[in-house]
Amino acid sequence: MKAIRRFTVRTVLPTELAAVGQLAANLRWSWHEPTRRLFASIDPVLWNELDHDPVALLGAVEPSRLDALAHDGAFIAEAERLVADLESYLREPRWYQGLADAPARIAYFSPEFGIASAIPQYSGGLGILAGDHLKSASDLGVPLIGVGLFYRAGYFRQAIDRDGWQKESYPVLDPDGLPMQMLKEHDGTAVRITLALPEGRALHARVWKMQVGRVELLLLDTDIPDNGDDLRGVTDRLYGGGGEHRLLQELLLGIGGVRAVGRYVELTGTEAPEVFHTNEGHAGFLGLERISDLIAEGLSFAEALQVVRAGTLFTTHTPVPAGIDRFDIGLIERYFSTELLPGVDVHDVLALGAEDYDSGDSGVFNMAVMGLRLAQRANGVSQLHGDVSRGMFGQLWPDFDQDDVPITSVTNGVHAPTWTDPMMMALAKEKLGTYDTAAADWASDAVSDAELWAVRRRMREQLVQDARQRVVAAFEEEHPGATAPAWMHNVLDPDVLTIGFARRVPTYKRLTLMLHDQDRLRALLTDPERPVQLVIAGKSHPADDAGKALIQRLVKFAQHPDVRERIVFLPNYDIAMARLLYPGTDIWLNNPLRPLEACGTSGMKAALNGSLNLSILDGWWNEYYDGENGWAIPSADAAGDGAERDALEAQSMYDLVEHQIAPRFYARDADGLPRRWLQSIRHTLSTLSPELSADRMVREYVERLYVPAAHSRRTITAHGLQLARELAAFKVRAAQQWGHVAVTHVESGGVQSPQVGDELKVRAHVQLAELDPSEVLVEVVFGRAGSGDDLAETHRRELVLDSNELGQPATFVGTVPLERSGSWGYNVQVTPRHALLANRAETGLVAVAH
Ligand SMILES: *Cc1c(COP(=O)(O)O)cnc(C)c1O
Repeated sequence: MKAIRRFTVRTVLPTELAAVGQLAANLRWSWHEPTRRLFASIDPVLWNELDHDPVALLGAVEPSRLDALAHDGAFIAEAERLVADLESYLREPRWYQGLADAPARIAYFSPEFGIASAIPQYSGGLGILAGDHLKSASDLGVPLIGVGLFYRAGYFRQAIDRDGWQKESYPVLDPDGLPMQMLKEHDGTAVRITLALPEGRALHARVWKMQVGRVELLLLDTDIPDNGDDLRGVTDRLYGGGGEHRLLQELLLGIGGVRAVGRYVELTGTEAPEVFHTNEGHAGFLGLERISDLIAEGLSFAEALQVVRAGTLFTTHTPVPAGIDRFDIGLIERYFSTELLPGVDVHDVLALGAEDYDSGDSGVFNMAVMGLRLAQRANGVSQLHGDVSRGMFGQLWPDFDQDDVPITSVTNGVHAPTWTDPMMMALAKEKLGTYDTAAADWASDAVSDAELWAVRRRMREQLVQDARQRVVAAFEEEHPGATAPAWMHNVLDPDVLTIGFARRVPTYKRLTLMLHDQDRLRALLTDPERPVQLVIAGKSHPADDAGKALIQRLVKFAQHPDVRERIVFLPNYDIAMARLLYPGTDIWLNNPLRPLEACGTSGMKAALNGSLNLSILDGWWNEYYDGENGWAIPSADAAGDGAERDALEAQSMYDLVEHQIAPRFYARDADGLPRRWLQSIRHTLSTLSPELSADRMVREYVERLYVPAAHSRRTITAHGLQLARELAAFKVRAAQQWGHVAVTHVESGGVQSPQVGDELKVRAHVQLAELDPSEVLVEVVFGRAGSGDDLAETHRRELVLDSNELGQPATFVGTVPLERSGSWGYNVQVTPRHALLANRAETGLVAVAH
């Protein structure tokens, strides 16, 4: 019989074990190795079976074992020591506390959070990144509050059927069995968040709170009796369904999320967020809710928009148009012609998400476009992705050069304590005196080559063992009652060069590029002297049959008896698998179609463990590959078509493996050590570890974006919102006048035949219409003149007002130093100037000389 309802009875721990309960309640256990060891020691077998989930472990362990532990002095002492350590971690000043004028709080909104494998609230990179962001924020003392949804089934569990086809299942999570608490009112009733829907209906949600170290994470959940059956299902799955279902999730996340934070702040009497960070467009409606609040305080929509923009950061994560949420205009219109957002006119909403540019579609509402219009600051997630995003969204600033499009970049990072294998940490501690592998001096002789290689081998062996168990378990699940064939217990070899490849399976990531020349791949795998083995994993989106077909091709290839011990596909890629996979591979392979991989983080996690990368120069690798930390697969950008490009890039990959990677890996000295390879490992660890850490990323977000955003917001709200009114009025006036603003004439002089060291004098005549000279920024832009008219490597200098006589264009003057020889050119650019604008392109208005 099937259960119609499930619930978890929480264990009542013996009072002596109160400390253990405290440790389980804070998700710091997901990255704090000593705490994980304590839980593992309670019952190592159960700990592994239950996916390293302390709450489930404490629920499942035999009461007699708990009784024994309650009388185990050493165990209790260790638990209490860990609680003391946790308490000081939560209290003590950390990096952020040393900053002046930093925001009192930052709210970080994301549709998914990947924190631990026992909490499957993520589908891939975006969610893991959000989890890592929270963890590093906690370690650095950044007062962040995370906001997301609690999905009853999370992301799917993947199995592969006998035919190689992906099957999805959605195991239901029980909130009572997870380390989270319901947010309650002072009277003990559950906090309710309510959103008005069309036809007078309403969507209700409760709010869960997880504690991630110092950071709170609020998760909204619609699975409550106040909702009818259909609305209970709004938070059923991560990205289940499309269209309206997805819209309801995003309304709940953005609008409901702001309301939940507001309630939390009131109930706890803590600081309200000054900055809102939206992780991709999905949470974008958060800005509209805040606008509605400000309208209630007496601002107009345009004025409220200025305040909201000042304190908002938008991060875009994908250069793939299909990765951006777009809704049917009619749907948006229906949902916003209600009481959902008091005071907000539906037409103002529609204008924010309108694709009102040449290549746009007038029938859709674009969440990324709205995200950019609601945020004064925006970024991509690697340098290259920043550049690609400036191109992709450049149509929103049509008169500006791509370089001026106000989207910067912060390259992603990964949370080192989560992603560094405990064996590496132990080695660093023992030989280099620190668990902090990013700070350890890996170039030092204190760790010998032999020691480093021994740990690398143990990590490879650990992966091999895990892979064997997974392959056997997957077979037995697919063939109930049968026993797995003997060879499955022997797949892979702990001494063979191991290449890993795991990621989601959208087409651009090219899972099957390695199959391009199957004979060549087979030869690499079965080489008698220098064999290679491949460990592969990845989930396809449930609706993406093309992706599933790629998995099927790969699984079928891996079934051939001649290669099946050298290439395995592991089903159900998740955090638990990833933590063993990255450290266990010698080479981490990534072969996306450049430039569609915004950053890519799996290769970073591999590098932290001393794996070398073999990758297309895309995302993070484009800025960090240095010739010594791995290999770059050249992009065949000039190829005639996609097929030729695949062929060329696949050949380059095979060549690198055959002629460079395998020979270096198998070149052993008299002690059996691959000295040259070890040199690359040391170089990777010492140079990349600090750069790739999420601590570096979060510090950049704080210093370059959160702090300036908080300052903008404080300034604009300083005098009873008067400045918000002024800025809104200025933008309107500048737009009205701009049709008459022009650079009418530019004179230059001061040098006859220019030489290095000379100064060029520039005088620009600018017609200002009714704007004051102080309301424009006039700059000379100079740079190298290429074959066309376009300037490259441009620099700017501000020109200052020289004369402003009635009825005449104003004149602005300045100089350009000629520092280098060659062919140079310049132009003069005029943009609106106001103290509250964050960049010159913000208004979209610009005039240049012709
Ligand atoms: C890191 C990670 C990802 C993202 O990897 P990319 O290289 O960015 O594609 C996806 N899934 C899991 C389980 C991860 O740990």
